[in-house]
Amino acid sequence: SSNIKLGIVGFGNLGKGAAKAIKATSDLDLVAVFTRREPESLNINEPGVQAVHIDHAEDYQSAIDVMLLCGGSATDLPEQTPHFASMFNTVNSYDTHAKIPEFYQTVNDAAANHQTTAIISVGWDPGLFSINRVMADAILPEGKSYSFWGEGLSQGHSDAVRRVNGVKNGVQYTIPSEEAIEQVRSGANPELSKSDKHRRVCYVVAEENADKAAIEQEIKTMPNYFADYHTDVHFISDEELERDHAKAPHGGFIIKSGQTGSTNQQLYEFSLALDSNPEFTASVLVAYARAAFRLSQEKQFGAKTVYDVAPSYISPLSGEALRRDYL
Ligand code: NDP
Repeated sequence: SSNIKLGIVGFGNLGKGAAKAIKATSDLDLVAVFTRREPESLNINEPGVQAVHIDHAEDYQSAIDVMLLCGGSATDLPEQTPHFASMFNTVNSYDTHAKIPEFYQTVNDAAANHQTTAIISVGWDPGLFSINRVMADAILPEGKSYSFWGEGLSQGHSDAVRRVNGVKNGVQYTIPSEEAIEQVRSGANPELSKSDKHRRVCYVVAEENADKAAIEQEIKTMPNYFADYHTDVHFISDEELERDHAKAPHGGFIIKSGQTGSTNQQLYEFSLALDSNPEFTASVLVAYARAAFRLSQEKQFGAKTVYDVAPSYISPLSGEALRRDYL
């Protein structure tokens, strides 16, 4: 078929979400999933989709138009992105905000040298939220937009909780302050500290005989993660964790309230409420695969961010259809 041919690198939450998202399209085909594990262990039972060890990916350069890099941001993507960008057009969801500038440089070097297109840091934040921050602040120049996250399960903070001594399992929810959101919506342009904007709630399964007071203390005083926030810690059973906390919901708001002509209040707001963070993020990656393919066809090589990609590039529809049905 003339469909755009995709590969997935890494079959965790995001990779599985990407496979589902590709199935929901009619212009994209999944050719293969690449993994560092034993390929058979992935149990991919999709006709026409191969499970392949990552070391054999280079054999697929003519069969795959775009690789969706679905590894973790901490260690997988910094290593895998330049490597794959030297062979394929790629899309990834790198989300370590502070390191994006250096990540961009490394990926841009690899992609420009090998004439591939690499769209980096795609998803909802970074991603759709980034676009809306820029839009809001470009249109209403006074002040700065506010980002609120949650209510949602934070993977990084949940990992941090699970590393605490005596913790068997656990999850962490980030909860935005309703009061802070209302203040921002009202146009008050408040000064908000981290802890004014969000609080944190942990559900923890303790090891047998563990010192719960010590666990709670260690979580609440953990630098960077919890020390600056109001944090609640609840101890629950394995069964409760499984029953009530198995999903990965997330979302949030970008809010900008500004004035024009000194008397008119203008409210710009973008929000997401997601039942499954990885499935939504993967759906964004899949839509941007179209853009990676089209940009590479136009020889627009190198690293790109969501700021560089026009919306028509991510749509399956033609320019004509977009002008007729969407403008
Ligand atoms: P996972 O931990 O589920 O997967 C990461 C990698 O770990 C996989 O690619 C896989 O590689 C390996 N892996 C997964 N499961 C197993 C297993 N059972 N045994 C051994 N290895 C396994 O991470 P997610 O998919 O949830 O998230 C990936 C990244 O997406 C996050 O690090 C985050 O940075 C980013 N993200 C970005 C968002 C955005 O808005 N921009 C939003 C949400 C997430 P392999 O198959 O090679 O073993």
